[in-house]
Amino acid sequence: RRAPPATLVIFGASGDLTARKLVPALKQLSHHRRLAKEFAVVGVARSPMSDDEFRAKLSNGPDNGLLERFRYLAGGYDDPDTYARLKTLLDEIDQQHGTGGSRVFYLSTPAQAFEPVVRGLTAAGLNRGATPDGFSRVVIEKPYGHDLASAKALDDTVHAGFDESQVFRIDHYLGKDTVQNVLALRFANAIFQPIWDRTWVDHVQITVAETLGVGTRGSFYEHAGATRDILQNHVLQVLALALMEPPASFSPENVRNEKVKLLQSIRLPTTRDIDRIAVRGQYSRGGTADELMPGYREEVGVNPRSKTETYAALRLDVDNWRWAGVPFYVRTGKRLPRRLTEVVLQFQRPPHLPIRADQVSELKPDALILRIQPDEGITLRFGAKVPGHSFQVRSASMEFSYQETFKEESPEAYERLLLDAMIGDPTLFIRSDEVEHSWRIVDPIVAHWQESEGRIPFYEAASWGPTEGDQLLERDGRAWHNG
Ligand code: NAP
Repeated sequence: RRAPPATLVIFGASGDLTARKLVPALKQLSHHRRLAKEFAVVGVARSPMSDDEFRAKLSNGPDNGLLERFRYLAGGYDDPDTYARLKTLLDEIDQQHGTGGSRVFYLSTPAQAFEPVVRGLTAAGLNRGATPDGFSRVVIEKPYGHDLASAKALDDTVHAGFDESQVFRIDHYLGKDTVQNVLALRFANAIFQPIWDRTWVDHVQITVAETLGVGTRGSFYEHAGATRDILQNHVLQVLALALMEPPASFSPENVRNEKVKLLQSIRLPTTRDIDRIAVRGQYSRGGTADELMPGYREEVGVNPRSKTETYAALRLDVDNWRWAGVPFYVRTGKRLPRRLTEVVLQFQRPPHLPIRADQVSELKPDALILRIQPDEGITLRFGAKVPGHSFQVRSASMEFSYQETFKEESPEAYERLLLDAMIGDPTLFIRSDEVEHSWRIVDPIVAHWQESEGRIPFYEAASWGPTEGDQLLERDGRAWHNG
């Protein structure tokens, strides 16, 4: 797979994502010869910089001459002059590098600038390729909206210039091999499908745990919180892939149709349910004597009386034939004890045990654990006879490790996604209706918390969240799998 001739235009190119992820991904793509010879990059941002200063800022590590094809254009995101100058520069690049009038516009600015940039591109006619064969695409970073209303407003602006087929909404989780492996495991094997339903699965858990606090993102995070920052996108995307029906093919529309059907089947929380099915929390000072970590309210850019949640856990129900009655517990949090993203399918207990209860005292329920990151792989937990004269059964596991099994390198998520956007494959990007349904699920919860007079539960930094989070499962006779 190789990208066709095109120019990649990065808005917000003076920022962190460009330097830390996008340009290293381009260097890797270039190293693996996945970029066309006719390729160029234009960085756009307000900071004044020359082409050489822009290249120098990105020059760590070998680049095979790639940076020579980088240009920089300084300008405001809502200034028509920026787009007029950009158009002239792109035409010049087409002449110089043979990029064929095709452009991919990557919006790597904070979300406030997404609409002005899309409007500017549309008004300048950059929403179409510059030649009959040329294309124009727009790649939009997260967060895509702040709630359903703002996501729809952003969509209206985007669709005023770009057809949905030209729009690539990023959720970088979908670029991970281990997330794509959920599809391989489920649909390239026959043995899992028969047990992947309400008959065999007791419940499913999805955890996205981070050890870091908000760091320098305090003022952004204050207006987001864990539910909007992680649950609405990464967690619901992984959930959709893990629970959706088999698609007829892995074509972009088939996969995304199945994901959207699954999201539509998630029962929408009513205000009455929320206190029962949703838990929030905020980290307070904690850690060890060696590493004392500040509480969220002590972080830079955070209101000292903030009620923003840094932890969120939900019980979701999926109202369809496959999953009726099976609870799905999802959680995410900052300042938890381990960095961990995993999906756990816990299976039913055997209907009848032909041995005494004391012979299985150390037996946990069977489980299939998909480790998305780190230590990527899969664990199957089951009961095995303990060696010896008596008949005791204890939990054992079979392990699959990506690192030990495959010699092939795993590309960084952004490498895969940038290549797909340039090729024009939208399978691993979020369609507009998926975004809307995801907001429909989380909006009532966030709104309820914002209106609530009650105090937010605290948890000590480096603990597994508030006790209320554990009680969410304990009430149902279950417990979180903590890696
Ligand atoms: P950033 O460094 O904060 O911003 C990128 C550039 O945008 C800045 O250098 C700045 O350039 C411009 N900018 C900053 N504030 C602005 C504002 N209020 N209005 C308009 N322009 C502004 O952001 P980033 O970390 O690179 O992230 C870019 C996008 O990717 C964001 O939407 C973010 O949510 C998303 N994202 C980032 C990461 C990551 O690891 N960094 C991960 C996932 C998603 P000028 O001042 O020069 O114009």
